[in-house]
Parts: sequence; structure tokens; C-alpha cells
Amino acid sequence: MNTLLFATNNQHKIQEIQSAIGDRLKVTGLKEAGINIDIPEPHNTLEENAKEKSSVIYALTGKNCFSEDTGLEVYALNGEPGVRSARYAGGRSDSDNIEKLLKNLKNAPSRKARFRTVISLFWNNKEYLFEGICEGTIAEGTKGTKGFGYDPVFIPEGAEKTFAEMEMNEKNSYSHRKKAASQMVVFLQTVI
Ligand code: IMP
Repeated sequence: MNTLLFATNNQHKIQEIQSAIGDRLKVTGLKEAGINIDIPEPHNTLEENAKEKSSVIYALTGKNCFSEDTGLEVYALNGEPGVRSARYAGGRSDSDNIEKLLKNLKNAPSRKARFRTVISLFWNNKEYLFEGICEGTIAEGTKGTKGFGYDPVFIPEGAEKTFAEMEMNEKNSYSHRKKAASQMVVFLQTVI
């Protein structure tokens, strides 16, 4: 089976993308590929951060690879935390980030939000970008223990529970990451 290197150390993301792609292609994370590196995300857009990760790994390995960057964009907070979602509360703690988000939304007129994923694929020395968006609402409190990040407070449009209350297949039927991955698969089918 063909393998494709995914420039991430996040096991949740690897599992979700693998499940989105199915058994057409084996997705390999950095650790599995024997690459021990933590790539910074210094930019102000998801697109630039995704490119930073895939281009660094492409230059290092010479192998076709992709990366992704995701942000939670809350309308009443002018798109925050957005590109700063991972370090919203200063550190990298999911529970601190969620606590800060719920506090900032306390008297907000709307709890509408969206997840946006940008995938940057380096294929034969050329970059291709794919985007996936999932609209939804921020719950009043946390619910569920599955998934990661902001999943316990995010209810996708059309559902009545949070991502953290869903099995991966169910999350993938709504998810930003799955939508971006599906577009990448369409592209890969034309070149593999
Ligand atoms: P990054 O793409 O790894 O930089 O993630 C940015 C932030 O959003 C981190 O706090 C992640 O935990 C969170 N995040 C990314 N994807 C998801 C998701 O699918 N569900 C919930 N939180 C996510």
C-alpha cells in the first residue's frame, strides 16, 4: 500500500485523517517515520503555519508529505481563538483553553463558531492547499470524553451532542478535517 507522511505528532489527527482516507493510503506520522521534531507555528494564518510544517518536513526528508493546521473561529469573538487556538490560555492545556473560551462567551449574543482546517500537501516539490469547514455552536459546558482539544464544547450544525460524545466515524461525518482530507484524496486519486 502507498504511504504518505503526515507532518504531525498529534495521534488524534493521524487517526482521524487515516479514518477519513480509508484503506487507500497508509498515513504515517513523524514519530512512526523516526523523525523527532517539534515544528513551530509562528505565523498569523492557518495557511502559513500548515505550509511551515509541510515544507520543513519535505526539505528534511525529500518525501511527499502533508500537514494541517486547524483553528476554532468564534463569531462573537471576532474569529478568536483562530490561529491561536492551541495556546489560547497561554499554555497548551485543553482544559485551560476551554475554560477561557467559556468565560469569554458568558454574555455573548451568539455562541456560533466554526472549525477550519487547512491542509498543505507537498507533492513533487509543489504545494497544494485544501480547506475544510465545520459550522457549529459552543455548548454552555463540557460534555463527553472522546476526541481532543475543544471537542467537549463543540456541537456541529445538525447534531445535538458535542464532538467529544461521538465515535470517530460520527465526528468524521461532520468534521472540518474530514472535509479537507476528502479534497486531498480527490487530488491524490489523479496523481497516484
Ligand atoms: P493545531 O492545528 O494542532 O494547531 O490545533 C489548534 C488547537 O485546536 C489545539 O488546541 C487543538 O487541540 C484544537 N483542535 C484542532 N483540531 C481540533 C478538533 O478537531 N477538535 C477540537 N479541537 C481541535
